Amino acid sequence: MAERCVFCKIINKEIPATIIDENEHCLVIEDINPKAPVHYLIIPKKHVVSLHDITPGDAQLMSELLFMAQKCATTLPDPKAFGLIVNNGPEAGQSVMHLHCHFLSGKKMTDL
Ligand code: AMP
Repeated sequence: MAERCVFCKIINKEIPATIIDENEHCLVIEDINPKAPVHYLIIPKKHVVSLHDITPGDAQLMSELLFMAQKCATTLPDPKAFGLIVNNGPEAGQSVMHLHCHFLSGKKMTDL
């Protein structure tokens, strides 16, 4: 539920986070428990539960998330060296029920 969602609260600036970037479509924050030297979360401002729940009407939003990842990469020593992960559903490791992309860099994520 959006009102109780931790990412909605961060988006609404009700609770703090380290904000990396922001536009009208999405917010980028540092992950509070980083799994790589660079670990950002790219979060759509619209409360969408998971990738499973997107509709064709979310096409632009999804594209904005990817272009935001590309923009985040411009700040890296190597703008081509990053990974994006979306966990979909609790069984796959999703712990926050608001769609987000993990943006990871500085470590080879080869254990997938
Ligand atoms: P997932 O397990 O794919 O749903 O990822 C959720 C991520 O959100 C985890 O990597 C958490 O460390 C991160 N996280 C949870 N709460 C916060 C918070 N308040 N600020 C920043 N990152 C958070």
